[in-house]
Amino acid sequence: MNNNILITANWKLNGEKKTIKKFLQLLNTFLFVKLYPCKIIFSPPLIYLNLAKQLITYKNLHLAAQDVGVNSLGAFTGEISAYMLKDIGVEYVIIGHSERRLYHCENNIFIAKKFKIIKESGLIPILCIGETYEQKKNNETEKVCKEQIDIIIEYCGQYAFKNTVIAYEPIWSIGTGKLPTPYEVQKIHAFIKYYIEYKSKFIDISKITVQYGGSVDGTNIQNFLKEKDVDGVLIGGASLDFYKFSNIITLSNNL
Ligand code: PEP
Repeated sequence: MNNNILITANWKLNGEKKTIKKFLQLLNTFLFVKLYPCKIIFSPPLIYLNLAKQLITYKNLHLAAQDVGVNSLGAFTGEISAYMLKDIGVEYVIIGHSERRLYHCENNIFIAKKFKIIKESGLIPILCIGETYEQKKNNETEKVCKEQIDIIIEYCGQYAFKNTVIAYEPIWSIGTGKLPTPYEVQKIHAFIKYYIEYKSKFIDISKITVQYGGSVDGTNIQNFLKEKDVDGVLIGGASLDFYKFSNIITLSNNL
């Protein structure tokens, strides 16, 4: 277990002005009272990022976008650039989420292009990687993660993973209630760290944070966070309700 736990709340296509306002007011107060050392990242739909920025008052509460455009400027109707996100105070961007890979046909090279632009603009990528159930059954989890890492290093260079976040998210676990064992998660997290260190020619990778994501809630969070190489969690469904989410934060800080 890492002392600087990173907890990301991914709201996906949920929320409206009223609910976001209420959630952040409660969360600010909760964090001010508890003063936990963990870092929390809130990721509302794009259109509410600016509102969220105005509402966040607690220093360890940060903002992530759920996506970003692959271009930085010009005739790209409908797009939002990493520089624009930075301009309004966003610090992180989730990329490579399986829902974007699946519903928006985003492939590894397209994700690598986004990764590059995110880094160039001074934001921190939260890169989601992970295998399908079929790939798990075929013992291909390491192979899949390796490929997803390789393409980033090929496209963005040896130092690409300095100061980044990786979210290991087995696709079959997202929103399903199905879970890998903590041992399986530990094993793949250790592999991800080892592999990036190896590919980066042993530069200091201590700043890489590997989160686990997939059906995390109050009943299982502690089992995952007890593992040595689990540095935090990325939470979808259970982050939508303030009471569930704050309970998860409390449990994470009471191991
Ligand atoms: C996710 O959105 O990446 C996720 C992990 O969702 P859930 O916690 O609902 O499985």
